Amino acid sequence: FTGKTGSELLTEKIKKFKVHEYQSVPIVVKESVSVYDAISAMFLEDVGTLFVVDNNACLTGVLSRKDLLRASIGKQDLNDIPVHIIMTRMPNITVCRREDPLLEAAKKLIYKQIDGLPVIKDTDAGLEIVGRITKTTITKAFVELITDGHV
Ligand code: ADP
Repeated sequence: FTGKTGSELLTEKIKKFKVHEYQSVPIVVKESVSVYDAISAMFLEDVGTLFVVDNNACLTGVLSRKDLLRASIGKQDLNDIPVHIIMTRMPNITVCRREDPLLEAAKKLIYKQIDGLPVIKDTDAGLEIVGRITKTTITKAFVELITDGHV
């Protein structure tokens, strides 16, 4: 008997959850694509956050649903606006890494009031995007915690 309370055991279990165990596939677009095409990608891929990359496939920006909505209420043709004009850009992007505790990623979502984080790998060329953590990821982990994997 360890003498640990139920809540201590639960805390230990949660702290062991790693980003790479829960991350999903990142959907990326190039900086040069139009707002119109980014909206299409968001629908086709069924995601709420797109990551933007340069020609080296390195992270340069993030596009949320509201970023694209905001760009859509003007009079300009959405085919003529490249996403790099409207995206949130580096170095103002909050990221996480594969080995980070999922709890740290969850805290970033809360404190920054955002829906998703790119999971990145540091390379010589820049930040390579290897995954995605979203509020849905955290919800899944929460349910799994209680049901032991049987959702
Ligand atoms: P929405 O804007 O659709 O409510 P978010 O809350 O995720 O979605 O995004 C709010 C703002 O924060 C947007 O301008 C978006 O570009 C930006 N954003 C989203 N994710 C990140 C991130 N990981 N790092 C920095 N900024 C982000």
